[in-house]
Amino acid sequence: MISDKSVQQVIDTVKVEDVIEDYINLTRRGVNMIGLCPFHNEKTPSFTVSPAKNIYKCFGCGKAGNPVRFLMDHESLSFPDAIRHLAKKYNIELEETRSSEAQVQERQLRESLYLVNDFALEYYAKQLFETETGKSIGLQYFKERGFREDTIKEFGLGYAPSKGDAFTLAAIQKGYKQDMLKQLGLTSKGGRDFFRDRVMFTLHNLTGKVVGFAGRIMGTNKKAPKYINSPETEIYHKSKFLYGAYQAKRAIRQLDECILVEGYTDVISLYQSGIQNVVASSGTSLTVDQIGLIKRFTPNIKILYDGDAAGIKAALRGLDLVLEQDLNVKVVLLPTGEDPDSFMRSQGLTAFEQYLKDEAKDFIFFKTDLLLKESENDPVKKTAVIKDIVSSIARIPDPIKRSLYVREVSQLMNVAEKMLVAEVNQAQMSLLKRQRKDRKQNRTNPQQDPSFPGGQNQLIPVGPELEAAQQKASQKSIEFQEKDLVRVIITEGDKVDKESGQSVLSYLLKELEPEVIDEIVHPVYKRVFEIAAQELAGGNSPTSAFWTNHREPEISELAVNLSSPPFDYSPNWEEKHQILLRSQVPPEFNFQKDAEQALKRFRLKKLQKLAIENQKRIKTAYESNDDIQVMRWMKLQRKLQEMRDQVAKELGTVVFGK
Ligand SMILES: [Zn+2]
Repeated sequence: MISDKSVQQVIDTVKVEDVIEDYINLTRRGVNMIGLCPFHNEKTPSFTVSPAKNIYKCFGCGKAGNPVRFLMDHESLSFPDAIRHLAKKYNIELEETRSSEAQVQERQLRESLYLVNDFALEYYAKQLFETETGKSIGLQYFKERGFREDTIKEFGLGYAPSKGDAFTLAAIQKGYKQDMLKQLGLTSKGGRDFFRDRVMFTLHNLTGKVVGFAGRIMGTNKKAPKYINSPETEIYHKSKFLYGAYQAKRAIRQLDECILVEGYTDVISLYQSGIQNVVASSGTSLTVDQIGLIKRFTPNIKILYDGDAAGIKAALRGLDLVLEQDLNVKVVLLPTGEDPDSFMRSQGLTAFEQYLKDEAKDFIFFKTDLLLKESENDPVKKTAVIKDIVSSIARIPDPIKRSLYVREVSQLMNVAEKMLVAEVNQAQMSLLKRQRKDRKQNRTNPQQDPSFPGGQNQLIPVGPELEAAQQKASQKSIEFQEKDLVRVIITEGDKVDKESGQSVLSYLLKELEPEVIDEIVHPVYKRVFEIAAQELAGGNSPTSAFWTNHREPEISELAVNLSSPPFDYSPNWEEKHQILLRSQVPPEFNFQKDAEQALKRFRLKKLQKLAIENQKRIKTAYESNDDIQVMRWMKLQRKLQEMRDQVAKELGTVVFGK
């Protein structure tokens, strides 16, 4: 592990504009710098960098963070890797503390697996470019495909000779252990080379490390499978892997679209021709993990199909999964007999791009068309088609999108819209039931829940569900008030009041009773309070940089968002949730007053909540004819109201009087 001291040193040294300017052009605008956002496609810059606060924020897509976050998001690095990258850039020597024995061993194992793969990559490339058979068979094959030498190198293509154990011997001679070679599947159990007489495709992970290989047969052995792949290892998981993602990720982000093809050569061919946002799932149907990978870069996916209707129909089944993840899916069918590679070579880039534009069909409509053609004049089949389409539509989380599809599909299929709505609702109910059950069984990642259907797409709530919805709304409004306090702590906590000599943070924590802090609803806000209390107890006064650079990503993300104006409350929240927001900040902004007011608004909200809860108690007691309790709670109610009015009055005077 990198020591905290080293991490701090890196964070203190790094300048956000230095890091970002490695990737995009920034221009000065006042105290800030702006540029075109690298995370979404835009024509006018909304990506804002604040050198003073050492943070960035995009007002288009909302991405925000400190320099470390930028590298983590932009280069898909882990936190330690981002720190290592920055340390290298600034020539900072990192102090790595000793990890546990198991951790060290695991890291060493992974690193040595990568090393062996690097050697294999080099070996296969050498065979391709420097041996007679490599040149006449392998290189010849790639040249026939039209691959340029720079492309061949960029994708790490190679050739594995047909001699039984040439690679294994070379690796052992270099000092690599045979059990490593076997573990990676480069050498088979009997000690022979796994890849023989094949052209080789290197499998890179998102950061460009070599995780495995795929080999395409060259000889005439008809029994051998056309393609073979490295087995699953500690560093290669087929279901989480997309071929070409490393080379494509930048283009995918910039164009805000990912093109999915079937074969390795399709990826390379399109990439070389200028369509660089392209990946392949290497033959398997898409998995949830692969979709997750794409979703990190874009919500828009375009799938290129070649082949016959039957094959396409089979492939379409897997796509319902994509709909559930709220991705926009389009499908492009290539002319019969063409694959992306051949089509690109015969048509050229411009015609190909035009074709992609003209022929891209929304997945649902594509599926409807395809199935309808088969079921023409067969009412039984048509019913089955309706069920099939309905189950796809029901998976779309966005209700507006869903209703648009229902309308269009009802016209396409010539069935009543009402009937389809009923079917979709029904399909959704059973889907929700199933998902609830799944969730109960598998509560590994509750944070992910909102992205699942059923998160936002409940049917109109009634009865207990309605009550739950109301409770949720009241919870939300408390959370907003909590957030306001957290904002004060993060952005002004270290400021010291001249009169009292105490910091805003210490003032707030003194004023707030510990029980109130225990009751903070939102887990991240609660964590801010905990950390703040700890720091204060240790004699520290955390600055806003302390928060924006905090090691816990939820904390730093929150801090960045709260530190970048405009403050992200939406205007109608004020009336919707009866939230009292701070009024316009005057130039001579008084942080002490801001803290006092935030505290009062928070208290007011708490008192309101208590009053509502107490009202319920009164009702229950009244219904069970318990007069003594009714009296007791009524008394409390009056007290609460008095306190509430008092705070409201104070707030009124403070807010509007000055
Ligand atoms: Zn953006």
